[in-house]
Amino acid sequence: MIEEFAGLTAVVTGGASGIGRATAEELTARGASVAVLDLNPEEAPVGATGFLCDVGSTESVTTAIQAVVERFGGIDILVNNAGIGAQGDVAANTDDEWDRVLNVNVKSIARLSRSALPHLRASKHAAIVNTSSIAATAGLPQRVLYAASKGAIQAMTLSMAADHVREGIRVNCVNPGTANTPWIVNLLGSEEDPEAERAALNSRQPHGRMVEPNEVAQAICYLASPRNGSTAGISLAVDGGMNGLRLRPVGS
Ligand code: NAD
Repeated sequence: MIEEFAGLTAVVTGGASGIGRATAEELTARGASVAVLDLNPEEAPVGATGFLCDVGSTESVTTAIQAVVERFGGIDILVNNAGIGAQGDVAANTDDEWDRVLNVNVKSIARLSRSALPHLRASKHAAIVNTSSIAATAGLPQRVLYAASKGAIQAMTLSMAADHVREGIRVNCVNPGTANTPWIVNLLGSEEDPEAERAALNSRQPHGRMVEPNEVAQAICYLASPRNGSTAGISLAVDGGMNGLRLRPVGS
């Protein structure tokens, strides 16, 4: 049987860790040539090729995309996944911090897409998948700046999908719940009682645990797949039901 992504080249930003890494692994396993664009390209998974890239810099993105095209001959799939966190209420962050987080989480998607679009237009199976978050659709405490960045990603996914669907480029996003990645493990490490915090995060999701990075990777592959050519402009939640379900307390 022909592999699902055979002959296709995928770019995964933030592909050296967590959700991006799991996605790079899954796309590779399903036959894609995978370029990981990351601050730590040497940590790209086996089978993928790492390219040094700071998604917060236009110059760095342009150089990396050029290098990918020289290496693989084109780009069919762009996974805009790299992102950083921010904590606090609406008064907590300085203007500079707002600029820094929106630059890495939101403007990066415009930067990467702008650079990749000419190559996506030349593909018969073009897709862009953006990584949003449950923070965009549920009110999580102390996450105002992060939520703003992830809400922007959902809005721009829809608008991008409308702009490009007729030229054969599908744009969608995934909306993960709290996921068991190095990001969250580091965050837990900074808590006074990491185990209590882990238990709180687990129980916040209706299925009682964090989302595994590979579960998000499966959803990203679905959205990117040439087999799913009619899926455009959607936000696919991978959150154990956190966004939509209202369970009664355990035991009641
Ligand atoms: P992670 O920290 O494990 O991995 C992030 C990767 O992005 C790292 O390899 C890092 O080097 C890279 N990166 C960071 N800044 C970069 C930059 N400026 N240029 C290039 N690469 C950069 O994070 P993760 O948990 O896998 O998160 C990945 C995405 O998923 C993010 O967009 C995050 O907002 C989103 N997300 C995460 C969770 C979660 O609970 N972990 C939940 C919802 C959404």
